[in-house]
Amino acid sequence: MQTPMLRAAFASFTPSDAGTPEAQWLPTLSTWPQWKPAEGPLVVVSPHPDDEVLAAGGLIHAWAAAGHAVTVVSVTDGEAAFPAWRGLRLVRREELKGALRKLCPLHVTIVRLSLPDGKVARHTNRLRNALLTLLEPRLTVLAPYEHDGHPDHDAIGAVCRGLEKSHGVSLARYPVWTWHHAHPSVLNGLRGARFMLSCEARRAKARAIQCFASQLQPPQAAPIVPRHVLSHFERPYEAFLL
Ligand SMILES: [Zn+2]
Repeated sequence: MQTPMLRAAFASFTPSDAGTPEAQWLPTLSTWPQWKPAEGPLVVVSPHPDDEVLAAGGLIHAWAAAGHAVTVVSVTDGEAAFPAWRGLRLVRREELKGALRKLCPLHVTIVRLSLPDGKVARHTNRLRNALLTLLEPRLTVLAPYEHDGHPDHDAIGAVCRGLEKSHGVSLARYPVWTWHHAHPSVLNGLRGARFMLSCEARRAKARAIQCFASQLQPPQAAPIVPRHVLSHFERPYEAFLL
């Protein structure tokens, strides 16, 4: 996730705002059909360490357990979440490694791009070129929704939408901040779908989320992912836009 840029760009909401209650999303989400990726490899493009697990941890778990190759493209190290915290970049890298280990005992590849947190929009060529090297037949790419409301999420989403058009990439987009700050009507007219999670996938995801201590219980700062935001990521399914 990551907050300071969010505050700068979207002064109307912050993680500590009450936001949209999870219950308000349920009538919309309950109408979305079930979906799963085509059998084949999965690439999860993640703006900040924790976005991939929050949005798609259950799917990562299920897909790797089924024997498919799973690659997480970790675009930034999330170092701008708390600018005064020296070494946060390394802390967040370790949190991601730990979370993926909890999610799945099998190997999940991490491709780390280390683009500057909050400034991905200035480096879209590098991102695009990195993603082009990962394209292969039957691949599904999971990427942030291009109107999620955070500049890094939106920039990455736009690059991946571009690859969908130019290279026919099979793309599923995941909202993160949308669940918190938006009214469900913003998704009207879009094609939503749900990947249903087994009990085992939900348990693994819950354990993995706890690895992101810097975001859940940062020392001497308000959490980036407070309890009410976390509630959007405890569903028995994960929701995507196709
Ligand atoms: Zn993020």
